[in-house]
Amino acid sequence: MSTIFDKILEGDIPCHKVYEDEHVLAFLDIGPLALGHTLVIPKERKAYLHELSDEAAAALGRVLPRIARAVMEVTGCDQYNILQNNGPRAHQAVFHVHFHVIPKPNESSGLGIRWPSASLDGGAGEELASKLRDAIG
Ligand code: 5GP
Repeated sequence: MSTIFDKILEGDIPCHKVYEDEHVLAFLDIGPLALGHTLVIPKERKAYLHELSDEAAAALGRVLPRIARAVMEVTGCDQYNILQNNGPRAHQAVFHVHFHVIPKPNESSGLGIRWPSASLDGGAGEELASKLRDAIG
């Protein structure tokens, strides 16, 4: 399924490009939560993070800290969030993998987070971690 980010990748609609290499494109978010809000996307067309090839994932991981450093330097903001949504319930609106780099200049701008934490039981935690280790392989 084609998304608005395909059109950006193809140059059919403009963006404010921040970075590009063989695997990755980064550009300013059109609806920034704070000055410098940047989107980092793989050129590989996958909707969700878990669908990415190792190559695309590695390329994103290699460049994200560099883009974060540039956003910090240019905005003068020393705190930020990296956000990556998967699925509509998880607040994903564009179904092409993307990482948000969102400066957090103060309490009232940037990303707001609700964090309804529970408490991890030791026994159940070990059982769950074991299942996850097996699933990762
Ligand atoms: P999501 O909720 O899917 O994680 O975030 C999608 C992001 O894409 C939003 O922050 C939204 O502002 C941004 N966005 C949507 N359409 C465009 C566009 O055409 N150009 C740019 N630069 N950003 C877009």
